[in-house]
Amino acid sequence: MKHEKLIILFFTLLLSFFTQTLYPVTETALITNSEWICTDNSWISTKFLEHNNIKFDILQEEEIFSNLSLSVKLDETLSVVEGNLTVDYYNNDPITFDHIPFHLYPSGMLYEDRQGNIDILKVVTTGSATNLFYKVLSDQQLMWVNLTSPLEPDQSVSFRITFRTTLPDGQDRANSQGFDSNQSRVYSCTAFYPIPCVYDEYDGWNIDGYLKIGDPFHFDMAYYDLVIEIPNGMIVAATGELLNSSSDGTTTKYHYNPHYPVREMVFSASRYFQVESKVVNGVNISCYYLPHSNWLWEKDTLDAAVNSFILFNSSFGSYPYSTFNVVEAYGFYGGMEYPCQVQISESIVDQHPEDYEFYQELIVTHETAHQWWCQLVGNDQIDWGHLDEGLTCWSTDFYFDFYYPDWHYFDNYWPLDIVRTYYDTFSQPSKINQSIYDFLGTNMSYRYTAYTKAPLIIQKLRLTIGSKDFMTGLRHFFEEYRFKIATFPDLQKSFEKVIGKSLNWFFCPWFDNPYLPKYSITNVDYNHEQGSITVIVEDINEEKNAYPFAQQLHLQVKDTRQLEVLYRERVWINGTTTLDFELTKNSDAGVVLLVYESDVLVQLSSIEDTVLVYSIYSSNKANLVRLVELTVLLLAVCAILVFTVWIMRKRRNLR
Ligand SMILES: [Zn+2]
Repeated sequence: MKHEKLIILFFTLLLSFFTQTLYPVTETALITNSEWICTDNSWISTKFLEHNNIKFDILQEEEIFSNLSLSVKLDETLSVVEGNLTVDYYNNDPITFDHIPFHLYPSGMLYEDRQGNIDILKVVTTGSATNLFYKVLSDQQLMWVNLTSPLEPDQSVSFRITFRTTLPDGQDRANSQGFDSNQSRVYSCTAFYPIPCVYDEYDGWNIDGYLKIGDPFHFDMAYYDLVIEIPNGMIVAATGELLNSSSDGTTTKYHYNPHYPVREMVFSASRYFQVESKVVNGVNISCYYLPHSNWLWEKDTLDAAVNSFILFNSSFGSYPYSTFNVVEAYGFYGGMEYPCQVQISESIVDQHPEDYEFYQELIVTHETAHQWWCQLVGNDQIDWGHLDEGLTCWSTDFYFDFYYPDWHYFDNYWPLDIVRTYYDTFSQPSKINQSIYDFLGTNMSYRYTAYTKAPLIIQKLRLTIGSKDFMTGLRHFFEEYRFKIATFPDLQKSFEKVIGKSLNWFFCPWFDNPYLPKYSITNVDYNHEQGSITVIVEDINEEKNAYPFAQQLHLQVKDTRQLEVLYRERVWINGTTTLDFELTKNSDAGVVLLVYESDVLVQLSSIEDTVLVYSIYSSNKANLVRLVELTVLLLAVCAILVFTVWIMRKRRNLR
């Protein structure tokens, strides 16, 4: 009997092998289709722009800020800026400080021969000029100033820092670059003085050094005043309104003040700047560019700045300052945002030789949008860099969507195809909601998640909750957090206040899951006589993610020849989902299709794979054939078993 059991086990395994190998569980296939497109832009009209250009009360009464007063002199020959920063620091945090850290960023910036640096010459109290002890940590681009007595909450302390800054000669954010011989020399003075660090409940003091990826800047708002002494003949673009200027014959002193709090003061200077200006909504918008860039800038750049400014000012909330400058600079980046001023790199033409005009417009628009997302509404760009970059990239597409009738958000710059195929192309997960440090040392791309994937998710939110609630939520976010520092959950809360419901179901999976959903139709039960049909849609990536995805997909049932649509419905797919619905009795249902319209985010191996197809016909036919074949196989196996047992018994009897 021992042999008999082994023989039965052998045949059972053989049978199992045949059925598993020859008849896989599902029969899904992908076909190409790109005819389904949806847009949701019709509610935005020029009337909207006209009616929404209303200034709100800019500052709430109870808000108190620090006062910082900068007085500096530019040495054109040495590329040095030296002067004083008078700090009247207001403690708006609920703890007592013994010392205050300041960023000294230039030494962390790229350079060729001349490294950037801020030398601290002295720190003294403003009243009695008592020296304060300070410690410079060069490798961290940081200085700690020790206070003479503890600074209690809601109290202020005043001191003056005397410093000397050498501008680096690289292509980083602060630099002096170009030559007088060809009228190309520019001094870009950004993050060029000691800037107080931010204290918050999440990190304590945010003392992060200059980082290789992302924007390292994270500053509190403060009232600022800036006096720049500069050789005669130089043209200055600076944060704030020019209040007055005076010359002693050799140098000129320019006095700037932005009137409302800003996060930083910056200026650029050149003997060769050409200036174009236009007053829009009471704001003087100016472009500063070099003679060799006339051909690119004089054509459309001021228009791009003006048009994007008008759209964002009307759509998100009023810009409170009286000036906004777009300034040509040298940089490895396309553009960079600062308060009331942005820099646009002259490297755009080299980086995009085929379509530099489009990129010039795109980058001007992007940096303009940062005035709302990053400058007015601040955020920790290290912990939540995707917050301002995501909103800014989305705003840039919003601009193109608005001004260009033939623009489609999935075209060209819009990254739908990139996002859908990103994992299959690069084999990299892409969780958006991570700090810069989470990206350092991993194979994940901060640039992709913050600049490409995040704006697409924001657009998906717009399509999901509708443009009207979406824009109301954005305006609410702006009004609540302007002059403050917002966190990523604050953005979610702003939309939740508008729609009156939790949006965890949207924000958690789309921003925190590392993988997009990948769908498969794993089973279809179709009762031809009754017309009832049950479809199981499975998210293959569900196990790899922390949260199930929920989104609407277009489901269709077509006849066996795929000529007639028997059923068409937008259905919610919440993770792995079973769908039951009714067709007309005795209809000729042949295939079930899941159609990925442009609002559907899904992992694909090819951008062409926008329809998932399950064949009921071949499935039913196959099931029938399978049943017959299995029956034959089983009968054969049984016959062999009986025969084998019969032989063995006969042999035993013979013994
Ligand atoms: Zn940006």
